[in-house]
Amino acid sequence: MALFGTNGVRGVANVELTPEMALDLARSLSTFLLNKNGTPPKIIIGTDTRISGHMLKNAAVSGLLSCGASVMDIGVVPTPALQFYVKKHRDADAGIIVTASHNPREYNGIKMIAEDGTELSRDDEKAIEDIYFSKKFGIADWTKTGCLLRDDNCNEMYIAGILEAVDKKAIEKKSFKIVTDTGNGAGSFVLPDLASRLSCRVLSIGADPNGMFPWRNPEPLPEVLTEMSAVIRHSKADLGIAQDGDADRAVFMDENGDFIDGEVILAAIGKYILQKEKGPIVTTVATSRRFADVAEDAKAPIYFTPVGSIDVGRKMVEVNAVYGGEGNGGMIFARHQICRDGAMAAAIVLEMLAKTGMKASELKKTVPNYFNEKTKIKLKSPDAKKAMAEITKKMIRDKKEIGYQSAETVDGLKLNFNNGWMLIRPSGTEPIIRVAAEAKTKADAEKYVKIGQKYVDEANGS
Ligand code: MG
Repeated sequence: MALFGTNGVRGVANVELTPEMALDLARSLSTFLLNKNGTPPKIIIGTDTRISGHMLKNAAVSGLLSCGASVMDIGVVPTPALQFYVKKHRDADAGIIVTASHNPREYNGIKMIAEDGTELSRDDEKAIEDIYFSKKFGIADWTKTGCLLRDDNCNEMYIAGILEAVDKKAIEKKSFKIVTDTGNGAGSFVLPDLASRLSCRVLSIGADPNGMFPWRNPEPLPEVLTEMSAVIRHSKADLGIAQDGDADRAVFMDENGDFIDGEVILAAIGKYILQKEKGPIVTTVATSRRFADVAEDAKAPIYFTPVGSIDVGRKMVEVNAVYGGEGNGGMIFARHQICRDGAMAAAIVLEMLAKTGMKASELKKTVPNYFNEKTKIKLKSPDAKKAMAEITKKMIRDKKEIGYQSAETVDGLKLNFNNGWMLIRPSGTEPIIRVAAEAKTKADAEKYVKIGQKYVDEANGS
């Protein structure tokens, strides 16, 4: 059984993710570090605004202390704020953030952070998982149980770090009027304050931290951001910024209250960053070709990883990249830290608007346009691996007939065409295969999806 999903351990609080699990997961992390370093670790812990956060955090703290770890509780913080804190505190060996990110309110999760502030590697997750199931915990003698301290300065430290990483003066000169929607999440403690300190005039909505999420669902999809759109239009604001529950992601609306495609933002920032910073950029195989176009224009190397921010972040460290991310609002800025960083993304977009003099609605004109299509197919057999093997074999065999240029199997099967791509990927959680495509014309994107669907149907016996 796999405990860790794409983003840590997640489940409905007190049903799928219980205090007992939090206790043992924390003991597993502590034991893993004790085995590795020979001394009991120092661990930083925090939560998002979820109701069940205290329950799970206190169970985890208890588990850590029982293994002799010393613990610093930093309260309610965005995930990237905790990561920044771990990175800055050289004596910290790891971090735990209790969050379910963008999931609905009944969920919670436990995500572990490595000593450099990046997400824990898949190998380390696996090692911790093994300890969890073996229950071979390094329980301390009663004289060596750990101590618990508290530090309330994490959010302030995170804000200060961002203010140092952007051109504060350029942003201040503009006195932007912005609307923030932090959706009752952990970003409520950071984003409105950060924007104010960049001399923005801030209209903040959903800024009361509340684990019932009365304002909107923690996932900042365009359809739940209608109020932000209305406030932008009525107040004639320059920009709208919304975050998910743990504020590692940020999405944007322009001065007309229109949602800006996350792929456009990812690529537009890439273009802006590559004008000043030289180095590779990293994204996943599912990202829009806009990002690759931007890299090509700037003559910057680009690397593709499997879907998920852990893989993007790890690759960025490996190739010493300047920037990376995904089109879902998760952007990583090496000049600040190697993790998805919602408040930093907001500050960079403000800097980009200030320095280029562009309006937010003009950002989409700075990158090429593409059309996207997708579909999903329910599998008759739960064995997605077998279906994928068959699909891959046949599509590689039919290269000429299909008419693509190259194929890659970094994650699923991706076919690169002259004017776009098609990606077939099995879902990690359900017996479903997804087909996505992108092309310069809508007709071609539809055509590529149809081709993919044909092969999936064949493998599915329908
Ligand atoms: Mg998140």
